[in-house]
Amino acid sequence: MKRTNVKISLLIVLMLVLTTFFNVAMADSADATITILQTSDLHGRIYAHDYATDSPDSDAGLAKIETLIKAEKAKNPDALLIDCGDTVQDNSAELFNDLPVHPMIQALNKMGYDIWTLGNHEFNFEKSFLDRNIAAFEGTVISANIYKTGTDERYVDGYKIFDVNGVKIAVVGMTPPMIPLWEASAPSHFAGLEFKDVVEETEKVIGELEGKYDILVGAYHIGPDGEHGYEGMEYIAENFPEFDVIFGGHAHSKYQKEVNGVKLIEPGKYGWALAKAEIQVVKNGEEYDVVSVTTENIETKTVDEDQEILDTFKFVHDQSVADANTVVGTISNDFILMPDYITGEASISTMPTSQIKDTSVIDLINEVQMFYSNSDVSSAALFNFGSNLHEGQFKKKDVAYIYKYPNTLVGVNITGENLLKYMEWSAGYYNTTKPGDITVSFNKDIRGYNYDMFSGVDYEINLLKEAGNRIENVTFNGEAIDPTKVYKLSINNYRFGTLMSLGLVTMDDKYYDSYELLQDSGRIRDLIIKYTVEEKQGNLAPTVDNNWKITNFDFNNPYKDSVFALVKSGDVAIPTSEDGRTSNVEALNLFKLKDENIIKLNYYTVKTGDVLWKIAKNNGMTWNDLAQMNGLNNPNLIFPSQQIILPQ
Ligand SMILES: [Zn+2]
Repeated sequence: MKRTNVKISLLIVLMLVLTTFFNVAMADSADATITILQTSDLHGRIYAHDYATDSPDSDAGLAKIETLIKAEKAKNPDALLIDCGDTVQDNSAELFNDLPVHPMIQALNKMGYDIWTLGNHEFNFEKSFLDRNIAAFEGTVISANIYKTGTDERYVDGYKIFDVNGVKIAVVGMTPPMIPLWEASAPSHFAGLEFKDVVEETEKVIGELEGKYDILVGAYHIGPDGEHGYEGMEYIAENFPEFDVIFGGHAHSKYQKEVNGVKLIEPGKYGWALAKAEIQVVKNGEEYDVVSVTTENIETKTVDEDQEILDTFKFVHDQSVADANTVVGTISNDFILMPDYITGEASISTMPTSQIKDTSVIDLINEVQMFYSNSDVSSAALFNFGSNLHEGQFKKKDVAYIYKYPNTLVGVNITGENLLKYMEWSAGYYNTTKPGDITVSFNKDIRGYNYDMFSGVDYEINLLKEAGNRIENVTFNGEAIDPTKVYKLSINNYRFGTLMSLGLVTMDDKYYDSYELLQDSGRIRDLIIKYTVEEKQGNLAPTVDNNWKITNFDFNNPYKDSVFALVKSGDVAIPTSEDGRTSNVEALNLFKLKDENIIKLNYYTVKTGDVLWKIAKNNGMTWNDLAQMNGLNNPNLIFPSQQIILPQ
């Protein structure tokens, strides 16, 4: 909205009032409708395909976006097309960095993009790469807050003014100013450039544009909220109501909202949606006044891919798929022999072995984390219970099966006291065992990705104890954890956030960040490959140190085989949560199975005066084994009429 134009005519006032009631009629009375379409954070997506896992990604890619753009341009051929950056990086896009024009820029050109705002990830590579692609882009590259160091000269244009049938539309770009921090390990990526404050530069550029536009549009590679001390889009809207609409990016979030009369919209990441703004204007003398702005995120999930784009960029798809299948090493043996604890199957339908005991998969992840962060202790979760590595070739994409998410690695200093609290937090994953339980089950309210297993310390999880009080005998290098000592702990970037919100660490405790050092190559799954190639010469073998175990649970219960046989035959089902998201939420219990006449149970009913050691002795057992088999918290406390399970 033009703040310079204070003479709001009666007509406009009337129209604004009418807009509320007659939105549809309004469309007819506008003198022109300007359509602006936007994408952001495409991160190397042309085909709807994720090359890390070599699998389809149904709501991604420029091929789907092109189908939507063609439909919109059929309705409004003058629609402006904006991409808000983080365009050329990720999803194996760096395989094509040596081409004269990167395929992502080639695609933007082919699709007729008018504006490309630089994102922070554009600076992940040598500056010559960026310079070359800026020159190759056939529209206008913008960012108002990047300057050639020590000058008033911008690196690229700060804005672009379009004349669409007489309506003047100014589009302003902005880039997160933290690039020198994020790229600190590679200053050559931004050599000769300085990045200035978003708010100050917004004020400056609006000053430069005074009197030159009818519609003011932001194309900001900035999220709704600020970070690292720079302000976000909401703050910009609060302070600069001159904008009619600001297209955002960087946050990878999907939203549309109105702040201080300014429409804000971001279309998520990877091509999840095409953002659209329709701006209606009426003629007012020589100028146009904006009477309404509507926004919409048009989703791509069910949209077909454009064949022309698929044909043109088939070479990108083919080469990326081939890369995902690149052999990076050899695996000597299957890492987990019985992925499902009961059935042994690869797909998990009962208890996942990897959540019940230490395995070579979790040990490998922790080994890699400890190596790169140089930590004392490491923790990791399995995002896929069936995670495994199989004997034979180790392909790049296989790592996604043991590390599904693109998390990065953080090293943090933590006190022994807080480390123990964190371990207790994690062990809350298990249900407390009851007498007669023959399986170990999981808390229905905790997802598996929140169960971390630790390396570097030895410890036991006593499942007779309630959550918060079940981690026992924790030692580091053979000595008990010292609550006051500081340990170096490696975790993924998400768990770092968890530990901060639990109040166990602060930002100041962080001593290592693989993302700051290596950007996307700092993803834990990339580090696993790097470790395999560089530290293991491509040879991976399963090793497990069994540094932790569940205690006070009888894994060799004499009824195990018969109950497990019933599970395998499908006669007994492992309980699943009501929403179906969490399996194994309740233990199978021998007393319950007996009461339901599913099994025959040999048991003894306690009489007055009985003691456990005597019952054990009469049955040729030690009191200890009998107590464990029965899940007895206190073997000295048995009571008349209590049922004691005996071997079959
Ligand atoms: Zn991004």
